[in-house]
Parts: sequence; structure tokens; C-alpha cells
Amino acid sequence: MDHPPFPSYRNRYLPGMTAREIASLPDKAVAPVILATGAIEQHGPHLPVAVDSFLAQVWLERALPLLPPEASVYVAPPITIGKSNEHTGFPGTLFVSKDTLRAQLWAVARQIHAWGFKNLAILNTHGGNIAVIVYTLREISATLGLRCGSLAPKVDMPLPPQEATFGYHANTAETALLLAALPQYVDMSKAVADYCGRVETMGNLRPERAPATMAWVSADLSKTGIMGDAAVATPELGQRWLEVQSAATAAAIVEVCRAARQG
Ligand SMILES: [Zn+2]
Repeated sequence: MDHPPFPSYRNRYLPGMTAREIASLPDKAVAPVILATGAIEQHGPHLPVAVDSFLAQVWLERALPLLPPEASVYVAPPITIGKSNEHTGFPGTLFVSKDTLRAQLWAVARQIHAWGFKNLAILNTHGGNIAVIVYTLREISATLGLRCGSLAPKVDMPLPPQEATFGYHANTAETALLLAALPQYVDMSKAVADYCGRVETMGNLRPERAPATMAWVSADLSKTGIMGDAAVATPELGQRWLEVQSAATAAAIVEVCRAARQG
């Protein structure tokens, strides 16, 4: 019986290989290793806590088949529990400290470097991880000589100003993406709009993207755990987003591969 590959990028997935196969990969010096970093944290009453970690898998599942088959790139096992202390107090949130996340990044980097890889590319789907990733990758690059970077394809999907400004979490985008990619995990009967401010009266002090910001935790901003309008999300919107974002992710991977080849 023929089984479809699992995951779709089975031939690039390091955990699916034998030790001997990894040892004898011919292109380790020029093939970046992608390491996904996600989170397990509350995403309102309508989405599962694994949204961020699921989404990293969704991007890889859809972006990697878009690459030319000769592209040299491999995928490490993901880090699924991230630094989500901003969501404490909501059941279902699992998080590690900044030191643990940093130690995990170091552990993976040190070992893939020892196997012979020379390039590491992080695919991060959780905002709370970013600060730790940026300074840790600099240290890893400077210490090991492993070239490190992040895949952060920017995709501008049109959103109303209110959502573009105050849609932070479990919002229209995340809900639509899950509706398109993993609809069995979404309960739209519980999706609501919950904003911590209005664009008409927002002033200068806001949680993010503002002249003055604060180090927010979710409980300060939202009772439901939603920050944004989840109710207007549709599978059609999510499907468009998935296509654009997957293509952008594939293009970013191609760039990283090219840079790795140039040394
Ligand atoms: Zn999220």
C-alpha cells in the first residue's frame, strides 16, 4: 500500500532519518537547518493552545513542497513550548523561561554544528520568543561560527485599521488560518471580538506598535484571552493568507539556501 509522505517534507526531516543517513548527507556544509520555535498558550475560548506551534508545522508542510527539489535544506525537530509567561493565569498555557529557551537553542545549534551543518534558520511563530532568539543567535554565530538567522517572511494582508492596530492574539488572522488549515480545531461558536482599545481614541500609550508601550500580560488586556476580532474570520480569508504566506516562506528559504551556498 502506498502511504503519502509524513510529513510532506519527509526527505528533509532530520528526525525521520537514521543516524547513518544523517552522517552521510552530502550537502551539510551548504544546507541550512530550519528550526521551528512555537508556543503552547491560551488562544481564547475558540482556538487550541497549540496554535503557534501548529502554524509553524503548517508553514513547513506547505512551503517546503514549493521548493525546487534540488534545494539543499533540512528540518530539525521543533521547539514547541516557548517563552509565554505573558499568558500565565490562563489554563492550558505551558511555558519555559528565557534561560530554558536559550539553552534549547544552544543545545540544538551546538549539536547540528557537531554533525557538520554550518547554517541554522529559525522559523518562529510566537512573538514572545523573539527577543530571546535574536540575542541568542548572535551569541551562537559569534561563538560557534555557525551562521544563524531567522525566516520572517512579511505578508501584508488587508485588515481594517482597528484590527491592524489592536489585533494581537487569537485574532482575525490566527482564527482564519486555523479555519483554513486545521478547521477541526476551531469552535467559531465561541469566537468573539475583544479589543483593549479603539483606534478613534487610542492615544500614544498602547501595548505594541506605538510611541509609548508597556510590558503587557494577557490578563491586563483581555478577559476572554482574545485580542482582536476572531468572529469575522472565514476559511476563505485563511486560505488566501495560507497561500501568500506559504509562498513567501518558500521564497525566504530559497534566499537562505542561496546565502548558505555562497558561504
Ligand atoms: Zn498565537
